[in-house]
Amino acid sequence: MADWMIGPRLCNCYKCGNMVCRHDDIISKIFQASHGRAFLFTHVQNVVDGPEEDRQLITGVHTLTDVYCSDCGELLGWRYIKAYEEL
Ligand SMILES: [Zn+2]
Repeated sequence: MADWMIGPRLCNCYKCGNMVCRHDDIISKIFQASHGRAFLFTHVQNVVDGPEEDRQLITGVHTLTDVYCSDCGELLGWRYIKAYEEL
Protein backbone atom coordinates (compact mmCIF):
# COMPACT_ATOMS: atom_id res chain seq x y z
CA MET A 1 0.00 0.00 0.00
CA ALA A 2 1.29 3.42 -0.90
CA ASP A 3 1.44 6.13 1.69
CA TRP A 4 -0.04 9.46 0.79
CA MET A 5 1.24 12.80 1.84
CA ILE A 6 -1.09 15.67 1.24
CA GLY A 7 -0.39 19.29 1.97
CA PRO A 8 -1.92 21.10 4.91
CA ARG A 9 -5.03 22.24 3.05
CA LEU A 10 -7.02 19.00 2.99
CA CYS A 11 -9.28 16.89 3.61
CA ASN A 12 -11.47 18.60 1.05
CA CYS A 13 -10.41 20.28 -2.11
CA TYR A 14 -10.22 23.88 -0.96
CA LYS A 15 -11.42 25.06 -4.34
CA CYS A 16 -14.42 22.87 -5.18
CA GLY A 17 -15.05 21.00 -1.92
CA ASN A 18 -14.44 17.55 -3.39
CA MET A 19 -13.77 15.17 -0.49
CA VAL A 20 -10.45 13.43 -1.02
CA CYS A 21 -9.74 11.83 2.32
CA ARG A 22 -11.08 11.29 5.81
CA HIS A 23 -9.54 12.43 9.04
CA ASP A 24 -9.61 8.78 10.12
CA ASP A 25 -7.06 8.05 7.44
CA ILE A 26 -4.45 10.45 8.76
CA ILE A 27 -1.63 8.36 10.17
CA SER A 28 0.85 11.16 10.77
CA LYS A 29 0.62 14.92 11.06
CA ILE A 30 4.25 15.57 11.75
CA PHE A 31 5.95 14.68 8.50
CA GLN A 32 8.22 17.56 7.52
CA ALA A 33 8.34 18.43 3.86
CA SER A 34 10.75 20.91 2.33
CA HIS A 35 8.22 23.73 2.57
CA GLY A 36 6.40 22.85 5.76
CA ARG A 37 4.26 20.29 7.48
CA ALA A 38 2.40 17.60 5.59
CA PHE A 39 -0.15 14.99 6.48
CA LEU A 40 0.43 11.34 5.83
CA PHE A 41 -2.64 9.36 4.78
CA THR A 42 -3.25 5.68 4.27
CA HIS A 43 -5.34 6.36 1.20
CA VAL A 44 -7.11 9.09 -0.65
CA GLN A 45 -9.88 9.20 -3.21
CA ASN A 46 -11.16 11.41 -6.02
CA VAL A 47 -7.70 12.48 -7.06
CA VAL A 48 -5.50 12.01 -10.11
CA ASP A 49 -1.72 11.66 -10.19
CA GLY A 50 0.77 13.78 -12.08
CA PRO A 51 4.05 12.39 -13.46
CA GLU A 52 6.49 10.77 -11.07
CA GLU A 53 9.57 12.72 -10.09
CA ASP A 54 12.34 12.50 -7.54
CA ARG A 55 12.46 15.26 -4.97
CA GLN A 56 14.91 16.06 -2.23
CA LEU A 57 13.15 16.33 1.09
CA ILE A 58 14.78 16.82 4.45
CA THR A 59 14.28 13.10 5.07
CA GLY A 60 16.06 12.14 1.86
CA VAL A 61 15.22 11.63 -1.79
CA HIS A 62 11.66 10.50 -2.42
CA THR A 63 9.81 9.60 -5.58
CA LEU A 64 6.63 11.63 -5.58
CA THR A 65 3.78 12.46 -7.84
CA ASP A 66 1.72 15.58 -7.63
CA VAL A 67 -1.89 14.86 -6.75
CA TYR A 68 -4.72 16.81 -8.33
CA CYS A 69 -8.40 17.08 -7.57
CA SER A 70 -10.30 14.83 -9.98
CA ASP A 71 -13.11 17.35 -10.26
CA CYS A 72 -11.44 20.70 -10.78
CA GLY A 73 -7.79 19.78 -11.34
CA GLU A 74 -6.45 21.87 -8.48
CA LEU A 75 -3.06 20.79 -7.12
CA LEU A 76 -3.74 19.40 -3.65
CA GLY A 77 -0.52 17.75 -2.56
CA TRP A 78 1.61 14.86 -3.55
CA ARG A 79 1.83 11.10 -3.31
CA TYR A 80 4.83 9.38 -1.87
CA ILE A 81 5.95 6.47 -4.02
CA LYS A 82 9.15 5.26 -2.41
CA ALA A 83 12.18 6.51 -0.58
CA TYR A 84 15.84 5.92 -1.12
CA GLU A 85 18.22 5.26 1.71
CA GLU A 86 20.56 8.13 2.31
CA LEU A 87 24.06 7.10 1.34
ZN1 LIG B 1 -11.46 20.42 -6.59
